Amino acid sequence: PIATQHSYSIATIGADGIGPEVVDASVQVLKKLVELNGSFNLSFTNFDWSSDTYKKTGKYIPDGGLDELKKHDAILFGAVGAPVPDHISLWGLRLAICQPFQQYANVRPTKIFRGTSPPLRNAEHGDLDWVIVRENSEGEYAGQGGRSHQGQPWEVATEVAIFTRHSVERLIRFAFETAQKRPRKLLTVVTKSNAQRNGMVLWDEVAVQVAQDFPDVKWDKMLVDAMTCRMVLDPKSLDTIVATNLHADILSDLAAALAGSIGIAPTSNLDPTRQNPSMFEPIHGSAFDITGKGVANPVATFWTAAEMLTWVGEEEAATVLMDAVEAVTERGIATRDLGGSAGTKEVTEAVCQELEKVY
Ligand code: ATP
Ligand code: MG
Repeated sequence: PIATQHSYSIATIGADGIGPEVVDASVQVLKKLVELNGSFNLSFTNFDWSSDTYKKTGKYIPDGGLDELKKHDAILFGAVGAPVPDHISLWGLRLAICQPFQQYANVRPTKIFRGTSPPLRNAEHGDLDWVIVRENSEGEYAGQGGRSHQGQPWEVATEVAIFTRHSVERLIRFAFETAQKRPRKLLTVVTKSNAQRNGMVLWDEVAVQVAQDFPDVKWDKMLVDAMTCRMVLDPKSLDTIVATNLHADILSDLAAALAGSIGIAPTSNLDPTRQNPSMFEPIHGSAFDITGKGVANPVATFWTAAEMLTWVGEEEAATVLMDAVEAVTERGIATRDLGGSAGTKEVTEAVCQELEKVY
């Protein structure tokens, strides 16, 4: 009955490069899912915020924009990364949403899709199924530091990593909760506490403390350098992984590459307190080399959309969507980055057809 139907308002921000193409494809798939499923509803509001609007107006986000955005249940984001100038779009748009909305947990699942052949030798579907939890509010990307004597041979630059007990604790707690909800209940805490004797030691200590509240979660510690080897040599031994802003940034690119393509992996910027909308985006960038050619892989954004559905509470629909996406990769309908020859449109239509088969 309509009266009890769950309804969610979704803000879409395609932003730069292939962002709008993959977000449009995902909205098409989500609309199809809602139409077929019938038990929940989604409404979409598109926000035309991008490096192009920045060039025209001098602003990424118009006055009052964040207040408008905050009224939504979730944000589906495309990509930033236009060279206008430097990498200002990262700070001007993406972080300008993440920071005020307290999206302190960045979650990056990785797996090998059926029908794809990843570069990891002998690895197959099911062998690699990870969730990387990345600290998203401070750490090495806190923007603290400076340069003196710029351009001189004696120039000094500092890049200070910030770790507060408050932020480390809430993040590690979130990672334990994430691990606890997964079947294997397995968490690996990654640091570099043999060489970085302050912030990383704080991480280690907080992990020991928080672990006491999760007796059912099996956990271990790894140094980030050794972790890269373990991801390649013993992928099955890992499940949930938590690391700092910088370390998890690097590990999750490695994870995406090991799984097959940067074109399939999603990322969620979560405010676990749910006071603000969380933001969901593919991990890939704006990919200007293929923008407008109709060849961008929409799978990362489909998975992103599924993560968003799970977050708002429509887990069953999310599973149906992911099954449909994997049925398509299994049939060999894939874009060039996955070794196929299909375009964005073909993959999108194939997923819609798979959804029709389910209902
Ligand atoms: P940015 O600064 O925006 O992160 P980047 O060049 O570092 O840009 P991407 O934009 O992710 O990173 O692109 C890296 C490579 O992967 C490019 O060759 C791009 O074409 C390819 N790529 C990225 N996303 C996709 C996708 N969805 N489908 C197909 N190829 C992709
Ligand atoms: Mg990049």
